[in-house]
Amino acid sequence: MTLETIPKDLRGLRACLVCSLIKSFEQFEYEGCDNCDEFLRMKNNRDHVYDCTSSNFDG
Ligand SMILES: [Zn+2]
Repeated sequence: MTLETIPKDLRGLRACLVCSLIKSFEQFEYEGCDNCDEFLRMKNNRDHVYDCTSSNFDG
């Protein structure tokens, strides 16, 4: 797993529960998860973003 540089301020960032991809909530909402959206269907679906991502993750 490769982690890009993560900002110290993690507020607003969420991690995909399946692949641990980290993006902002808005990115998940607009783009879905790069890896998992074909089955997580987070794109344009806030409820799924909340269900399938976590704001609590180890940076
Ligand atoms: Zn994912």
